[in-house]
Amino acid sequence: MIYFIGAGPGDPELITVRGQKLLQQAHCVIYAGSLVNPALLALCRPTCRIHNSASMTLEEVLEVMLEMEKTASVTVRLHTGDPSMYGAIREQMDRLDEGGIPFEVVPGVSSFQGAAAALHAEYTLPGVSQTLILTRMAGRTPVPEPESIRNLAGVGASMVVFLSAGMLEQLQQELLAGGYASDTPAAIVYKATWPEEKILRTKLSDLAHAGREAGISKTALILVGGFLGSAYDRSLLYHPLFTHGFREGEKAPVEES
Ligand code: SAH
Repeated sequence: MIYFIGAGPGDPELITVRGQKLLQQAHCVIYAGSLVNPALLALCRPTCRIHNSASMTLEEVLEVMLEMEKTASVTVRLHTGDPSMYGAIREQMDRLDEGGIPFEVVPGVSSFQGAAAALHAEYTLPGVSQTLILTRMAGRTPVPEPESIRNLAGVGASMVVFLSAGMLEQLQQELLAGGYASDTPAAIVYKATWPEEKILRTKLSDLAHAGREAGISKTALILVGGFLGSAYDRSLLYHPLFTHGFREGEKAPVEES
């Protein structure tokens, strides 16, 4: 059996209980060495075979998986954050499906969630935005034109940009060109939940400058939107006057005229 497991954003305590148990049982682990915290590998049995996929091709990864399957082994494919975001797992799963090899996916805490925790932020603030856009700048992997940062910026939603810390100047330009005001709050979170985590709070017009000053060019998320500001409306869910399926709201006081 093969398990695709989300390792979480960095702190080894942020893997799921199921992910942790499977790592302890694994006969073989193939981990994404560029970003998975190697401290997680300490959970593995001494006999566990460990491969760092940073220097492997898809074909080589599959070869290891197929080899392990011959002996009814537990193989863990350990991806950073949650494997559904920029994890390149679909191509692995499709090849396994073709070969009739069973697998399961165990979700993980994504870095965009780790970054929100570090910032004490909520992406969906009433009166500010009810939408979160997760995206990236085009790099060697192209982004379809309708999803360009410039187009998405026009929505004005809360936004988290992956894989783009090395392109802060262009990112800032595109966000501004798309319609965010220059004083829109922004943040850069470097290595969220790792001991070396760095948090920079700034405004959009200073984004690239702040990143350059701090020497950040990789392993960071860029967050933009009014959710990083101070204004928002109180949620109805916990308002004393609001009735819903689980709670009867109080009657509004009658104002005397
Ligand atoms: N599957 C991962 C994303 C992999 S793409 C997830 O769910 O988080 C790699 C990019 O994710 C990096 O370039 C960076 O933008 C972001 N990233 C991953 N871990 C991070 C962390 N701990 N802090 C900040 N950004 C991180």
